Amino acid sequence: MNLIKLAQALKKEVKGIIKVSEAMSRHTTWRIGGPADLFFTPVDWMDLEIALKFASLEKLPVTIIGGGSNLLVRDEGIRGLVIHTGGGLKKIKINGEEVIAEAGVKLPFLANRVAASGLSGLEFATGIPGTVGGAVIMNAGAHGSSMGDVVTSVVAMDLQGRLLYFNNEDLEFTYRFSKLKNLDVIVIEIHFKLRRGDVLEIKAQMEKNLEFRKDKQPWEYPNAGSVFKNPPGDSAGRIIDSIGAKGWQVGKAKVSDKHANFIVNLGGASSADVLALIDKIQKEVYKKYKLFLEPEILIMGG
Ligand SMILES: Cc1cc2nc3c(=O)[nH]c(=O)nc-3n(C[C@H](O)[C@H](O)[C@H](O)COP(=O)(O)OP(=O)(O)OC[C@H]3O[C@@H](n4cnc5c(N)ncnc54)[C@H](O)[C@@H]3O)c2cc1C
Repeated sequence: MNLIKLAQALKKEVKGIIKVSEAMSRHTTWRIGGPADLFFTPVDWMDLEIALKFASLEKLPVTIIGGGSNLLVRDEGIRGLVIHTGGGLKKIKINGEEVIAEAGVKLPFLANRVAASGLSGLEFATGIPGTVGGAVIMNAGAHGSSMGDVVTSVVAMDLQGRLLYFNNEDLEFTYRFSKLKNLDVIVIEIHFKLRRGDVLEIKAQMEKNLEFRKDKQPWEYPNAGSVFKNPPGDSAGRIIDSIGAKGWQVGKAKVSDKHANFIVNLGGASSADVLALIDKIQKEVYKKYKLFLEPEILIMGG
């Protein structure tokens, strides 16, 4: 079946929007990425289940994106069905110190919402621009805390549309890793246990965290946050800076002058530009330190 016919067939069954050949550059913070064959934004769990069953029947590969803030999508785009959880699934429930958020809720939005309710624990998340679903997959963190410290359980769906439940211990959270990263599942709901705190103190801490970022990170250009993971006991930014890489440029991709672990899109950068720059940094760091810098960003498509 051609793409238009597939989109029409899926549209008959779901409520969410389906786009054909959607430029992924519109959905990544790097503003890079070729077309997704079919791009679907589910509005609720039922929509998601139907789309997954449809993809299974039509033998379409499935790719999930949240806020696209940790992704490099190749210029060739993504074949099959891309499910954009960041566009729907936005319910939040607060019950005492227990908080439940659907996967599409933006993490900074949730951090502000719980802060306003006098709940402490998500102050670290205020400047991490992605969805709660993406953050739990990545075990996103900053300022000495991460998702694994506050998540109690996760509800997910497998590619056949069956619900799965994971407790914190099942998820094996470590630095920028949760077990979910290696499973073919879609995170749909995340449960948190937070602590009572003073609203003003929580907000002041969040402000402080944001100020720290504005000072250190290149907010003026599209980027995807830290490109490489920190090696144990060291900082990737410090290491990259030490080989003089700040300002290195391939095409329109440049190592930020402000923070060496950020690659910025000066406007019109391709995934090939970014990949060439990543490769150059890895080779030069290896030459000098015999150390392999592992990417934190995820590469999709092609
Ligand atoms: C300016 C800037 C600053 C940043 N600072 C930080 C920081 O301080 N700390 C940090 O940890 N990260 C940081 N990041 C990186 C990024 O924001 C986080 O990794 C974020 O948690 C990714 O969430 P996302 O929704 O954008 O995920 P995406 O980038 O869309 O996806 C990331 C991965 O998660 C998967 N995924 C997303 N949603 C789901 C879902 N519902 N179910 C299953 N799989 C899913 C995707 O398939 C992909 O493998 C920063 C990024 C930027 C641009």
